[in-house]
Amino acid sequence: MLLDGESAGPYHDWRATTPLLKRDLEETGLFHVDVVTAPSSKSGDLASFHPRFADYKAIVFNYDAPDWPAALKDEFEKYVRNGGGMVSVHAADNAFPGWKAWNEMIGIGGWRNRTETAGPLWYFRDGKLVSDDTPGHAGSHGARLPFQVTTRDPDHPIMKGLPPVWMHAGDELYATLRGPGANMTVLATAHSELSNHGTGRDEPILMVLSYGKGRIFHTTLGHDVPAIECIGFIVTFRRGVEWAATGKVTQKVPANFPTADKVSTRE
Ligand code: ZN
Repeated sequence: MLLDGESAGPYHDWRATTPLLKRDLEETGLFHVDVVTAPSSKSGDLASFHPRFADYKAIVFNYDAPDWPAALKDEFEKYVRNGGGMVSVHAADNAFPGWKAWNEMIGIGGWRNRTETAGPLWYFRDGKLVSDDTPGHAGSHGARLPFQVTTRDPDHPIMKGLPPVWMHAGDELYATLRGPGANMTVLATAHSELSNHGTGRDEPILMVLSYGKGRIFHTTLGHDVPAIECIGFIVTFRRGVEWAATGKVTQKVPANFPTADKVSTRE
């Protein structure tokens, strides 16, 4: 299930990006994707929104809403706790600041008034994941320039065979994300440049987590259509969804995968 239907502003155009995410998955021949569009949280219609989570191996969120009714949150928590897969794409980690289980599933998130009460900052220092209790807001990014993504866990099934460093197409490099960070493995980071309104730190970009028996893949990449057309985005997204759904990755790395200094996008 590819879940969309709301974003905090016009800058996350899910109507434009959802068809690309669906195509990226279905082209592999491994997935059948149903798009489920949630009613606006302002409409009041979420009270009768009950997607059949349990019919799916994974739920992919291209979605950013402020909150859900308690019953719907319970249904989703139960789905993941019982072994359902979950994938958070880009601004989905802005959603649901007050939902404890959601924040445990994504590990780290930003915006929507998150502060130190959401948890510490998480980033890499000297090659290791560290947490930082410095108070402040959560969530920032610079201009959408290409940047290098560095593999931190080359043996994880999602990362196997990928180059140690590759150039991602112009995208928002999320920084200063905060959260509980429990049961979280950072698969890849990117250096947030001070010269581009960044932190000067190596920020988490791709993560896997567990919640109960459920597997979660979290990619902070994919702001808009040009970012989603990056072969590096596509390959890590497809692999992340397969891993969340099955615990394995059977997809080969394509020959046109980006290199350390060259962006590669869909033709
Ligand atoms: Zn964005």
